[in-house]
Amino acid sequence: MQASTSRIESYFCKLNGTPISTNQSMNRLAYTEDERRAHHTFSELAVSLGMTVRTDAVGNTIARLKGSDDTQPVVAIGSHLDTVRNGGQFDGTAGIVAGLEVVALFNEHRIQPHHPIELIAFASEESSRFGVATLGSKAMIGEFPIDKMSTLTDQDGVSLAEALRQCKLNPEVVEKACRSKTDIKSFFELHIEQGPELESLDVPVGIVNGIAAPTRLKLTFQGQANHTGTTSMMRRKDALVAASEMILFVEDAAKLEAINKTVATVGICEVTPASMNVIPGEVTLYVDIRSTSMVSKQRVHQQIRKKAYVIEQYRGVTCEIAVLSKEIPIVIERHIQERLQSACEEIDIHYENMPSGAGHDAMNMAKLWPTGMIFVPCKNGVSHDPTEYSTVEQIAAGTNVLITAIRREASR
Ligand SMILES: [Zn+2]
Repeated sequence: MQASTSRIESYFCKLNGTPISTNQSMNRLAYTEDERRAHHTFSELAVSLGMTVRTDAVGNTIARLKGSDDTQPVVAIGSHLDTVRNGGQFDGTAGIVAGLEVVALFNEHRIQPHHPIELIAFASEESSRFGVATLGSKAMIGEFPIDKMSTLTDQDGVSLAEALRQCKLNPEVVEKACRSKTDIKSFFELHIEQGPELESLDVPVGIVNGIAAPTRLKLTFQGQANHTGTTSMMRRKDALVAASEMILFVEDAAKLEAINKTVATVGICEVTPASMNVIPGEVTLYVDIRSTSMVSKQRVHQQIRKKAYVIEQYRGVTCEIAVLSKEIPIVIERHIQERLQSACEEIDIHYENMPSGAGHDAMNMAKLWPTGMIFVPCKNGVSHDPTEYSTVEQIAAGTNVLITAIRREASR
């Protein structure tokens, strides 16, 4: 079975509403008309493939292909159709296209799987609109932030609850999107890598072995604001100079964990009073540490605490550290990784085992069901940008691995 590049191309064109191009801005924010339109197009495509389609309580669109024993738990394939502002054509959409192509291949070869197959287009995967990511898959596993629905707002002040209502969804019954453990046998997601590894190694497929999760810290350096002209260099308690040392240290601490592919970033630096003639009195840094190894993340965290103590001692400042979040990385079950590896071997395609630095719907699904993830290369590793690009041949190669794995997974 070979995925059809022309079919794949036509699915992209229909879902994105535009031909594939190397520079095309997409703006399908969560729970907007644009996102819903893509979900509607997905429904039409699924129906044309002989599937039945429903929308669940949180706006996930779920298409189902009957199994020869339709009482069996479903083998599910999914990804998302929303994008970031000024995003690309492939993030999320590639996984939906791959799922449609899997079903098209079953039809073309007149194969009815033993287990039913579901294609799931998750709602609201990106955090761009409400600041919370993967809402659709969170709802499916019962982790939707129900208590924050009226306080989470977009930049126009529209609450998440209101946005759901505008999509004809009832925020009161979101918990109905929750699925039981026995509903689903396993879940698979194909996604563009959103990084440069596969392209630089010239390997067509990545098999994800873990999904990194962030630990986020807020560091507040308190020094002494004072006149820049009258305070000698020896008498200063400059919070920004102290924080600068920490920024450099965060980079070094993460580099020492390179073997675990741990990364750490200071993404925000707030200076008070931020005036040309005042020595900075207070500086807040926000640090994001990510890894698939909790132990490695913890080491970086501890090193940062030790460094803060040292800086306090010789710079006469104080440094308060608050832990904003400490999420547990997802380990992909070995038997699912092996299922994907043997699919690659069966069709003679090279693969690389790799972690995912970014979060995905698969991360939530993995908490309840055996979950696998396939990466395909994207040009220059760029994502969340109009120049995000993969060739249809690259998507087809990943889809060939997916159909091979799904055929086995959905067989008797
Ligand atoms: Zn995505």
